[in-house]
Amino acid sequence: MTHGQAQLIAEAERRLGPKAIITDQQDIEPWVTDWRGRVHGAASAMLAPASTEEVAEIVRLAAELRVPLVPQGGNTGMVAGATPPGDGSALLLSMRRMNRIRSVSAEDRRAVAEAGVVLETLHEAADDVGMRFPLTLGARGSCTIGGLTSTNAGGTQVLKFGTMRSLVAGVEAILPDGSIHDGLSGLKKDNRGYSLDQLLIGAEGTLGVITAVALRLVPAIGARTVAWVGLESPTRALELLRFLEARTDGIEGFELVPQDSLRLVLKHVPNTRPPLSGEHDWQVLVEATTPDADHDVAGELERLLGAALQQGIIEDAVLAANEAQAEAFWKIRDTISEAERAEGQTLAHDISVAVADMPAFLVSASGKVERAFPGVVASGFGHLGDGNIHFHVRAGAHAAPDWYEREGEAITRFVDDLVTAAGGSISAEHGIGQLKRAELARLAPPGRIHALRAIKQALDPLGIMNPGKLVP
Ligand SMILES: Cc1cc2nc3c(=O)[nH]c(=O)nc-3n(C[C@H](O)[C@H](O)[C@H](O)COP(=O)(O)OP(=O)(O)OC[C@H]3O[C@@H](n4cnc5c(N)ncnc54)[C@H](O)[C@@H]3O)c2cc1C
Repeated sequence: MTHGQAQLIAEAERRLGPKAIITDQQDIEPWVTDWRGRVHGAASAMLAPASTEEVAEIVRLAAELRVPLVPQGGNTGMVAGATPPGDGSALLLSMRRMNRIRSVSAEDRRAVAEAGVVLETLHEAADDVGMRFPLTLGARGSCTIGGLTSTNAGGTQVLKFGTMRSLVAGVEAILPDGSIHDGLSGLKKDNRGYSLDQLLIGAEGTLGVITAVALRLVPAIGARTVAWVGLESPTRALELLRFLEARTDGIEGFELVPQDSLRLVLKHVPNTRPPLSGEHDWQVLVEATTPDADHDVAGELERLLGAALQQGIIEDAVLAANEAQAEAFWKIRDTISEAERAEGQTLAHDISVAVADMPAFLVSASGKVERAFPGVVASGFGHLGDGNIHFHVRAGAHAAPDWYEREGEAITRFVDDLVTAAGGSISAEHGIGQLKRAELARLAPPGRIHALRAIKQALDPLGIMNPGKLVP
């Protein structure tokens, strides 16, 4: 522990009380490794403030004593953004005690949640007033509003509602000098120059600590239906999406699943079964919803899929007969990564290209990767309608146990080069954190890197906010 850290811990304990300081390494241990278990850090203490004012106190002390802080929510991020450096030079700043929903209003269509509120808790609070917070993802039981905002998370309903950036109406945060930015006023219009709120969304804790967020709510779901569709190619899948979108505004989930992924789920995940009787090279999970409980959304989707079948866009389709079957369809989609892990070593890439380009990109990139690295299986699944695919490369059946360490970097560079050449992004929704920083430095245009560094330097000249993350 450095002298500055010891001083900060002692002073924070004096001002905030013992509850806000954790120094027992057994309690800290689960929080210094990233969710995937790949990056291991170290921290001599975890600070756990319970209010905006307490966060401000800590940040002021950190600035004064030059002690770097690593903000952390649920630690479910995919790029080790919340993992402290391995040399113990930073302290963890856990936001999980700031877990109050300050307000939730159907009339204003708005909730104000503190940074440590777990996504599922917000879902329930919105539901209680007949509303809905429409962003959801697999980690909903542990990821927090602060983490979701800081990574500008996406999820499965982006098609209709956008990422966090579209759903955040304002941010309250502590800036690196300890001052409070209060963006929770609820103003619909505010053009006083640069938007600090927008800068903080997706900043991965490098520009300040988010303490609370105003969030947009939408009316609760009145009825929903989920269909499983078999088709011949990603091109056909995008054609289907456009066909549906031209005829209904109810489509909010549209997830592409290759046959290979379905096969792995059926092999490794208990209690799963193929939704369709025949085999199809590609499938799509379609979810349609309506806030109007009297609207026959299932009948509408059935009719539209029937028309798509007649026009040769799709090969087959089935509608979930009830909620249990709808959940069973989603389970197939949600357990693809788990099934891949059970099958063997897998490299994950969260990439995006322009929506219209994704079908051709996916097919051609898979072929190029498989030719360049014989034996691997390359494939993509996920949010086709957002141009965002989880492009995964699996080791071949006879790969060495250290395949990931030996070949991983070369394969990732190959994939990232293909994405960059296609004008795409090497991080569609997971952020940069530690894991993608070198690739961002290698591939981002000089102007983008210059702007990132200039913004970081202007707001955090002492470099105390989440050092070693995001900014190359
Ligand atoms: C099973 C699973 C499924 C997922 N699915 C998706 C998906 O579909 N789409 C998607 O976009 N992401 C997905 N994710 C990753 C997603 O980024 C995280 O779940 C979530 O956004 C991070 O929230 P968290 O509270 O765990 O943040 P953490 O992991 O704790 O932190 C993430 C980053 O935000 C910073 N941070 C955290 N809190 C604050 C704060 N209060 N102020 C400032 N900075 C802060 C951290 O320093 C770090 O850089 C998934 C993760 C898992 C485990």
